[in-house]
Amino acid sequence: MTRRGRVMTWLAATLAVPIAVAFAPVHPAQPIGWEPQIVLAAAAVASPQDAPRASRAARAALPPGVCNERGLQVQTILAERAISKQFPEITEMSGVRPDSMKWHPNGLAIDVMIPHWDTPAGRALGDRIVDFVFRNADRFGLEYVIWQQTYRPASGTPHLMENRGSPDANHLTHVHISSFGGGYPKGGETYQLS
Ligand SMILES: [Zn+2]
Repeated sequence: MTRRGRVMTWLAATLAVPIAVAFAPVHPAQPIGWEPQIVLAAAAVASPQDAPRASRAARAALPPGVCNERGLQVQTILAERAISKQFPEITEMSGVRPDSMKWHPNGLAIDVMIPHWDTPAGRALGDRIVDFVFRNADRFGLEYVIWQQTYRPASGTPHLMENRGSPDANHLTHVHISSFGGGYPKGGETYQLS
């Protein structure tokens, strides 16, 4: 078989099985919670010789997300970029704004606006985001999440909050994510999940 033939055969074999399975052997350190989409992006350039390169590409820096990142701390930015990458359905987030509590003004919180929040699909999307955030809690410096009127600390028992009277105030429209922050960017940071 020609070299080209071998490569095509390899590619066909690779594409015939789930990408996550095909790449599992070259990702021994694949972080828990990082789902296959990012590996899929690397697969387009993959050949056997390129496996290390694909592995590096899978860990490539995350581009800026959908939130205005101005004033956010580094772990908040990481969460924001990772969620933007992982959930393309999310097109709107807010970060720094005046508030009576410290998190938003200090760049420690983001609000992930959930499209169609009042439908089962919207609630399911919010649940998946909460799940993703908890699986990456250490990386995001997670302090707590509020979603569906429920306060969920990074460690400890969730509790139902008092009714604040509106879908926004009760966190039905958005997932609020609070981080310990990790400090403000100094410039030149790269954000990646591994
Ligand atoms: Zn918030």
